[in-house]
Amino acid sequence: MSEVTMVDTAQSVETTAPRGPHSGVRRVSVVHCFEFAARRYAYFVRTGDIVRLSPPAFDALSMVDRGEDLASIAAALNQSYGEEIARGVLTEIEGLTAEGYLSRELEFTGVELEGDVQSLLRHHPRNIMFLVTEACNLACTYCYELQQGVHARARTLKKADARKIIDAYFEGSLGRDQWTVTFFGGEPLLNFPVVRETTEYALQRAKELGKAVDFTLTTNLTLLTDEIAEFLASNRFHVMVSIDGEREAHDRYRKTVDGRGTYDKVTANLQLLIEKMKKHRTRLPKIRATLTAENTDARAVEEHLKSLGTHLVMVGGSHGTVEKGKQEFDVGGGASGNLLERPSPVALGAFEALAELDRNPDAQPKLGAGTVEGLQRVHAEVTRRQAHRHARPSLCGVCRNMKAVTPTGDIYPCHRYVGMEPFKLGNVHTGGADPEKVRKYYESLYANFQVECAKCWARHLCGGQCPWTLATAEGGVLPPDQDDCALIRRTQENVLGLYAVLLESYPRAFEKLMATNPADISGVWLPSGAPDDSCRS
Ligand code: SF4
Ligand code: SF4
Repeated sequence: MSEVTMVDTAQSVETTAPRGPHSGVRRVSVVHCFEFAARRYAYFVRTGDIVRLSPPAFDALSMVDRGEDLASIAAALNQSYGEEIARGVLTEIEGLTAEGYLSRELEFTGVELEGDVQSLLRHHPRNIMFLVTEACNLACTYCYELQQGVHARARTLKKADARKIIDAYFEGSLGRDQWTVTFFGGEPLLNFPVVRETTEYALQRAKELGKAVDFTLTTNLTLLTDEIAEFLASNRFHVMVSIDGEREAHDRYRKTVDGRGTYDKVTANLQLLIEKMKKHRTRLPKIRATLTAENTDARAVEEHLKSLGTHLVMVGGSHGTVEKGKQEFDVGGGASGNLLERPSPVALGAFEALAELDRNPDAQPKLGAGTVEGLQRVHAEVTRRQAHRHARPSLCGVCRNMKAVTPTGDIYPCHRYVGMEPFKLGNVHTGGADPEKVRKYYESLYANFQVECAKCWARHLCGGQCPWTLATAEGGVLPPDQDDCALIRRTQENVLGLYAVLLESYPRAFEKLMATNPADISGVWLPSGAPDDSCRS
């Protein structure tokens, strides 16, 4: 990392990319300047480099970032720092320009899209997600399935159909040695006999085919019995449990259909499950908390959940689709106020955690999984061999490893789309996903990315919001929510700054964090439209 003092604004041009009704005309960002921990940095968007800046360079690059011309920049520098410094900065900018740091990517032509669609169509998914039932014994106010009418249909997967779906998935994914079967609902434990039977069948088929298979189950845990806990632990299930924090916060929205809170039941059952997991020496359950407008203190929620006996905790926010807008319980709506004014979880305690890890790299990192994952993404950008040729979305596992199958065999891009008929991709029993529908879906995500994201300085770090949050009831895709974008960009600034500090001052912690699997540590996600760790590509 070097000190530079500066930029050519010629590359900071207006885009000619397709413009949607909400886009207006915006400059394509080639460099982004920001301050972190009283230090000044520039992030070069196309190359991924981060550079620490002197005050004159920071001022100059910030002007480039705002689209000001060289004459204005020279005049401002002359006035603030004198002629000699101004000349030096301008010379450095010329050097940066000549080396391509301030170039933008090529106009998007669609060639990359075609390549990505072809690769998607050839993709052998590593995961299949079963909705073993659409019914649920709870009626959590913020549940997207409840709102999309899924629970009301209450269809249930039959054993014979489950076998057919397993067969179709395995046959379509023979290029992999390791498969994951995810049981989802509704509440999957309402249909435990099919979970059991499907698990046994998948194990048998995987063995015959010389493959390995593991299992994931997402549950509200209210229906756990000793027998079910023993089954899940002995088959080494990864279990994701929903608990929203302390009793009051949890019971506010996570209620039975007749309105009773479930905290006591769920936490008691969690102890039973943890006991069984420990007995079988397998991975402890992971708790997923949903923050709401009245429950926004992610750190406090994380601490409470860790006190329940598992270190694997993930905190996200209640978030509906942009089309519906924020509802009163969503984070950012109702009582939660402006989250941008809250201190960043990334910055909170991060330096102490880095110093401690640097002293003792064998210890468990005290940074959240979301932060570690972000640092690794920045590292991949900084160390990439080639600059980006085009701005394109880096999608979550939607349509790839997150495809969801309903009890009747309908296929959707992911679990959240279930019930949104325009997004149905096909049916397992009638030939699987229709390649044309898959192509159209993917094309619409690319086209939407070009509307806003292709101009945004965070485009190669963020890659776009959760596509489901942008879906419309008619099958369209809206531009990203700008409140969420502001939060995402602020988070990215923090991660970039933290990466620079880590690299400059904590080399042993840096090595450790780059080698850490984020799935093995507790994670706090900022409540926003960004994909979370359960939606990997
Ligand atoms: S979704 Fe991400 S990349 Fe797109 S505009 Fe928002 S912050 Fe930028
Ligand atoms: S990030 Fe959104 S669209 Fe992607 S898999 Fe997750 S819920 Fe689905």
